[in-house]
Amino acid sequence: MVQVEFVQGDITEQQVDAVVNAANSSLLGGGGVDGAIHRKGGPEILNACRDLRASHYGSGLPTGQAVATTAGRLPARWVIHTVGPVWRAGEDRSGLLASCYRESLRVADELGAATVAFPAVSTGIYGWPMDDGARIAVGTVRAADTAVREVRFVLFDAAAYEAFVVYM
Ligand code: ADP
Repeated sequence: MVQVEFVQGDITEQQVDAVVNAANSSLLGGGGVDGAIHRKGGPEILNACRDLRASHYGSGLPTGQAVATTAGRLPARWVIHTVGPVWRAGEDRSGLLASCYRESLRVADELGAATVAFPAVSTGIYGWPMDDGARIAVGTVRAADTAVREVRFVLFDAAAYEAFVVYM
């Protein structure tokens, strides 16, 4: 079974095999985690994303899916880009958020990544309530059928950390 850890920190600094990016469908960069990963990882990541757009995802990476690139200058070896759903009140999109975690782990398995760091996907610009995002994230990872040995949730601030550790 996968070992789950929680830390407060910056995902770009994690010494793991793969870090997950809360990307947008364009794969061409954005704010939040995405901006931090591209700033710190350098242009190699964006070039790889552009190639993926051209070769496989002409109309963008669909919500709930995941795809890997180099991690450029980050300490990790790979970035796994996943597109979280935008929160919409009155609409249950939790299946798509769970899919982000499941698909990212599937990609990690394909890569042979043993350690993976996740941010709290969709809980920033995409507006998902942190408590619910934490419940879905941890529940999905614990239930996943994966060869990944360790999943580290990297929470940017104390409030996010508190929301996640409830599920330790
Ligand atoms: P989304 O568009 O999926 O909501 P964001 O990047 O806006 O993605 O936010 C996702 C979560 O990541 C938010 O909780 C945000 O506070 C957090 N976050 C932002 N920057 C970092 C970082 N460098 N490391 C880890 N988490 C981060």
